[in-house]
Order: sequence, then C-alpha cells, then structure tokens
Amino acid sequence: MRRLLVAGNWKMNTTRQSATNLARALGEQCSSVLDVVDVLICPPFLYLDAVGSTISGTGVQLGAQNAYFESPGAFTGEVAVSMLLDVGCRWVLVGHSERRHVLGETNELINKKVAASLENGLNVILCVGERLNERESGQTEAVLDSQMNGGLIGIGDLVSTNLVIAYEPVWAIGTGVTATAEQAELTHAYLRNWLTNRYNSEVGEQTRILYGGSVKPENARSLLEQSNVDGALVGGASLKAKTFMPIVQAGVNVSRQ
Ligand code: PGA
Repeated sequence: MRRLLVAGNWKMNTTRQSATNLARALGEQCSSVLDVVDVLICPPFLYLDAVGSTISGTGVQLGAQNAYFESPGAFTGEVAVSMLLDVGCRWVLVGHSERRHVLGETNELINKKVAASLENGLNVILCVGERLNERESGQTEAVLDSQMNGGLIGIGDLVSTNLVIAYEPVWAIGTGVTATAEQAELTHAYLRNWLTNRYNSEVGEQTRILYGGSVKPENARSLLEQSNVDGALVGGASLKAKTFMPIVQAGVNVSRQ
C-alpha cells in the first residue's frame, strides 16, 4: 500500500517571516493527519534552516527545491547535498520544469543530481512532464521516456521509498489548467509501467507517483482518488495554510476510505 505524500513547492516565494508563519501553521494543523499521509514542504534555500527549526518535532518533512551534485568545494552559488542534510532536509526536488525550461537543466545534469542525492541519503522527487505542443503532437510518452531514462541512468540500486516521481504536465503548472483526473491516471499508469519494465514489479508497485500542476482544494480529491496517483506536488496553493490544508485533508479522506 503506497502512503500518500502531499508536498508543497514554495518556489521563489515567501519572506523569512511569512515562511516561518506558514510552517508553524502547517506544523500545528497537520498533527492529526500525519499518521495517515506524509506532508512535505520545500521552502527556498535561504529559509530552510528557519523553517526546519519551526517544524522540528511536528512530523512535517523538509525538502529543498534543488541541489548540486558535487561535494562541497569551489562551486560559487551552489548548494551541496550534504549541506541540505545538515539543515534537516530529507528530500530534494530534481528536474522541476522551471529548472528544465527556465534555467536550462538537461537530463544529464538532472541525472547527476539524482545520483548524488540518492547516494548521500537524500530522498528525491524527480519531476517529469510534457509541454503543451508535445502533448498536442502526440509526443507525451516519448518525452516522458526520455526524461525518465535520462534522469535515471545508472540508478540501478533503486530503493523505491527513496525515489518519488512527480508527473507535472508543463501546460498545467501555474496556469490554472489541471489535467483531468483521467489524463493524470492514464499517464501515471504509463509511468508505473515504465518503472516495472525498467526495474521490476516491486519498484513499479511501491514507487509513489505524485501529480502536480494547478492542484487546488477543488480538484484535489478527484485527482488523489485515482489509483495510480499517490499524492500531489502543489505550487501556488501551498503558499497558504487555508489552501494547502484542504489538499492534505483530501489525501486523508481518500486514504481513510
Ligand atoms: P502549481 O505548481 O501548483 O502552482 O501549478 C506546481 C509545481 O510547479 O510544482
């Protein structure tokens, strides 16, 4: 049985004050649900330490939005996996579409980040997803194949609990347009099948596949109740407790069914 994971990607938002306020509210409001679902928040690097202290002991987990693959050294502006672990991160987002398409990250770089993170004990959420023109021209599966293959080269000894896949169709991120529950379910089933073929049925069965892209309180339940949707990666709606908590609660309701 896969445990649902609801993750908030705060992106380049919040201040020190608003970040800790939000973290405090989530720590308090999640206390009654963490026996059923996993909740993760990914603040900007600068606020990881403060947010980590704020949620310490609550069971809400801490993640980073990026990491560099090299060990500490002369890499100006980058943040090493060991530094993230040092401030209490258990997770890192890798290959988010904004990093692929705005910052120009390639599958090769993403693969190095996945490998360095897993090798050093940081759980990875590998984000994949097609752009609108790719979906419309029937290339969704080819794009996902190349992102999965490219991101997971050499990741043989895959422990399925340490790697989570997030399917985030680029056309649904921050646009208000969500994939329908059926579109999400079909694509998640495709990705699960990919994992089974590439690894084995245990990895296919156990790996959590999150949906991301305009997840809101109004659509969370219909997405989360799909059998191959194991949680959500939430951007905009994760910036307020009043919009994030109903998504967490939708996960709880679906899990308790
Ligand atoms: P969104 O972002 O929920 O604002 O669409 C999701 C994401 O980019 O992870």
